[in-house]
Amino acid sequence: MSFPKETVCADWITSFGKAMHTGSVVARVHIPPSPRPYDDHRESCLFFSRNACGKCIPRCPVQAIDDKGHDKLQCLKHLLITADYLKTHFGFEGYGCGLCQTGVPCESEIPTGANRIR
Ligand code: SF4
Ligand code: SF4
Repeated sequence: MSFPKETVCADWITSFGKAMHTGSVVARVHIPPSPRPYDDHRESCLFFSRNACGKCIPRCPVQAIDDKGHDKLQCLKHLLITADYLKTHFGFEGYGCGLCQTGVPCESEIPTGANRIR
């Protein structure tokens, strides 16, 4: 199942790129929201904004990304398989992949037209 063509990868690309880890902290403090200098959270993706790039597509080892979208169920199946690998090689409970977030123009920045490959 692929989602309707929106962008090939559903990640939110910020000025720090999309290869990132996040966490949560619960605190009783007031923090003003960060400015959002965009109209659509997908607009930094070259595929969404210019029908260009697509470098994340061949990075996926299980073909969970194509030009129609991101098959999250296929992605999840692969993530769950990685749990055994992580336990064996790194000794902790968890799962992960993220190959589609590295080695791509949006890895650590908002990609520009210079990154285009098609
Ligand atoms: S690699 Fe290219 S097509 Fe894939 S999410 Fe990043 S900018 Fe979009
Ligand atoms: S996280 Fe891994 S399995 Fe999921 S879409 Fe990205 S490359 Fe594919």
